[in-house]
Amino acid sequence: MRELMERMGHSSTRAAMIYLRSDVRRRVCSEDVIISPGELVRRNAAFAATGAFAGLPFPTSDTLQVLGCVDSRVDPGDVLGLELGEGVVMRNIGGRITPATLRSWALLGRLGQGQPPRSGHLVILHHTDCGITRLTDYPEQLAAFFEIPAGELESKAVADPYAAVRVDTAIARHTLPPSRLVSGLVYDVNTGLIEIVDPATQE
Ligand SMILES: [Zn+2]
Repeated sequence: MRELMERMGHSSTRAAMIYLRSDVRRRVCSEDVIISPGELVRRNAAFAATGAFAGLPFPTSDTLQVLGCVDSRVDPGDVLGLELGEGVVMRNIGGRITPATLRSWALLGRLGQGQPPRSGHLVILHHTDCGITRLTDYPEQLAAFFEIPAGELESKAVADPYAAVRVDTAIARHTLPPSRLVSGLVYDVNTGLIEIVDPATQE
């Protein structure tokens, strides 16, 4: 770590950790698709050496919540610049609110029982070129994912991430306590930028 900071000419441990993180997460090439267990161990050793894991508090209901897509190009931690411990991130196909998502959140909510009620912020992060738009050829499986009849799939706006994120923010606001802020974002995989499509109303 000291060597790293000297190389950077910077005394900030946080900056050194960011340097390591970006060093470890170098640009992925097509040859990098298969990552060996040994390589994972080496990367983990580099992570452990940063000390970034030490003393992090257990998440509370105040911790930022993010619902995003499983796509390897759109990791919410990277896209939103989250540090370790800053966000409770849940990912599924498309970053969609499904009954399974709601059941998981309800179970997570049990962890916060006994704490004073707080607001918190949920970010729903969809993205362009999402694989879910290619799954419309499989309406029965897609309908099962949402747990709705196939005839109602149109209501999920699967082909349009900007419309889809509005569908999901509406469900979240209807389902979650009104004190919880809900934002709908779309990430553009071509520009690297997010757009706040449906802002939290209490901002
Ligand atoms: Zn996706």
